[in-house]
Amino acid sequence: MTEENWGRVCGELQRSVGRETFARWIAPLEYIGLDAGVLTLGAPNSFVGDWVARNFGDEILAILSRDRVRADRLTFRVTKPGADGARPATNMAGTPTVAVTPADPDLPGAPLDPRFTFESFVVGKPNELAHAAARRVAEGTGVAFNPLFLYGGVGLGKTHLMHAIAWELSARKPGARVIYLSAEQFMYRFVQALRFRDMIGFKELFRSVDVLMVDDVQFIAGKDSTQDEFFHTFNALIDQGRQIVISADRAPGEIDGLEDRIKSRLQWGLVVDLHPTDYELRLGILQQKIEAQRVHYPGIAIAPGVLEFLAHRISSNVRVLEGALTRLFAFASLVGREVTMDLVQDCLADILRASDRKVTVDEIIRKVADHYNVRVSDILSQRRNRAIARPRQVGMYLAKMLTSKSLPEIGRHFGGRDHTTVLYAVRKIEALRAVDSQINEDIELLRRALEA
Ligand code: ADP
Ligand code: MG
Repeated sequence: MTEENWGRVCGELQRSVGRETFARWIAPLEYIGLDAGVLTLGAPNSFVGDWVARNFGDEILAILSRDRVRADRLTFRVTKPGADGARPATNMAGTPTVAVTPADPDLPGAPLDPRFTFESFVVGKPNELAHAAARRVAEGTGVAFNPLFLYGGVGLGKTHLMHAIAWELSARKPGARVIYLSAEQFMYRFVQALRFRDMIGFKELFRSVDVLMVDDVQFIAGKDSTQDEFFHTFNALIDQGRQIVISADRAPGEIDGLEDRIKSRLQWGLVVDLHPTDYELRLGILQQKIEAQRVHYPGIAIAPGVLEFLAHRISSNVRVLEGALTRLFAFASLVGREVTMDLVQDCLADILRASDRKVTVDEIIRKVADHYNVRVSDILSQRRNRAIARPRQVGMYLAKMLTSKSLPEIGRHFGGRDHTTVLYAVRKIEALRAVDSQINEDIELLRRALEA
């Protein structure tokens, strides 16, 4: 194996992982050597090495084998001595625990998740303000609003936005000292500093950063001395014109156990909330996540209507939605099947039960009859002409999609039909959705009306 083989690996990876991921993770690697089937690469720190090994290890080996180079294993060596703290360069298999910020590996921040970038953040009505404010801060052109306070319920993207700011800033201003950490970590650092009598070091460190981001600040509510120290750090940075970004699960004024002076200071800048996701945003996020998963699961097909179903039914938080998708993909790839409504119902039964929206089959029948201008009694009747049969099938499909009723139960609601009739209707509409945009539109309209 030569540098040239490595060059080809890089070329292929650049195409498959995208320019940005490539620049961040692959470009900094260097080829060191191949010995007895073990490929050694140089990485700027062990976090990068761990991450590449976990996410692209197999792909790298596969590309090499296509190039007729036999490599069975990948190891990384840290090539910039001193940049990697005390961790041995040889042990890179574990989860990354090193504190790394992109600009300066010595800062005491938490590791940034490489998936949490602005590119992967889907913008919709519920989060557009928060997103715009985060973008502005990430431009790094003067302090726009200080602090930027982001709040909202769990899983709505606060942490994602903060990481995105850190990534973006580090790309735009490579020298900037950006610290991202949770309020809990802030407290931990503070307690350590007290214990080891290093308050001076602690203060110097936190007061020397250009951008400080503290996630989940509600955590320090009721913790008086930590609050106090946070307040002083906060003031010192604001006085020096450094940017601060804070997140919490609720508005500053509503955090019980937080001193009033802190509450009021937190409101000096811009306070924006992330609203609960709506159907459109969830659908957008699903589509984006699928694109991202494609690398790992090429060739998995998703039946029409499945994403809409998930976006409709799983509205609790984005993390649950992501978990559902990951499970579906894993399952579909194991059994080598298309992701159909049946698979969804089998594989996500627990999640679906937990977020049951309680639309009833009778409601569906009424709405469908209304929409197609037929009588409910027609839908329940045995008449088979198309003007009635098609709405009936749409109704059955919606019942399958929007309720957790079984096929026989749905059949009973539709004038005592057999479960095979319902199954046939679901399959039929699924197939039609793939080719007929009118039916798609009808179903979307009905779904919305039922959701409202
Ligand atoms: P929070 O910090 O508000 O609890 P996170 O930022 O951890 O939420 O988000 C939870 C998960 O949902 C993450 O994997 C994140 O990438 C994803 N997520 C949330 N909102 C969006 C969005 N608008 N676009 C893409 N992914 C999102
Ligand atoms: Mg969070």
